[in-house]
Amino acid sequence: MLELGRAVLEPLLAADAGYIGPRADCGHGHQAGFVSYRDKTIGTVLGPVTLRRAWYHCAECGHGLAPRDAGLGVAGDTMSPGLARMTDRAAAAVPFGAAAKLVSELAGIRLTGERARRRAEADGRAAAAPPRSRPARSSPCRRPGRPRTCCTSAPTAPACR
Ligand SMILES: [Zn+2]
Repeated sequence: MLELGRAVLEPLLAADAGYIGPRADCGHGHQAGFVSYRDKTIGTVLGPVTLRRAWYHCAECGHGLAPRDAGLGVAGDTMSPGLARMTDRAAAAVPFGAAAKLVSELAGIRLTGERARRRAEADGRAAAAPPRSRPARSSPCRRPGRPRTCCTSAPTAPACR
């Protein structure tokens, strides 16, 4: 059943690699340039899934980014938000080693107790922190034929696909 779900999920994710033009807002006030498409494997509740994403590099900041990662909630992470929630719930209910084993069996992935601990503790710290407002995306949509505001607040909004 997990294989079937993954067989449906992967083509859906592959349909949009997140290319938003030759330049993308780096998030720090600069324009990052498109470099290439790069693969990233993330753990999901359906098992590991490999994404192909447009990769941008900001020369001023010296770091890279994939806008698609932000849209999927996996920027700087290798765990989908759904798998992260599953891990958090399991880690709250049983010791980390047992939680990792449970999540591994449910999602068909390999998860160590240490990774379950780090995830649960990081999410716990984030939940305990005061809420921060997310910075507004300042770069307009650059996709040809699209209104310049179609994806400035939600890069994966259906209007921008
Ligand atoms: Zn930058």
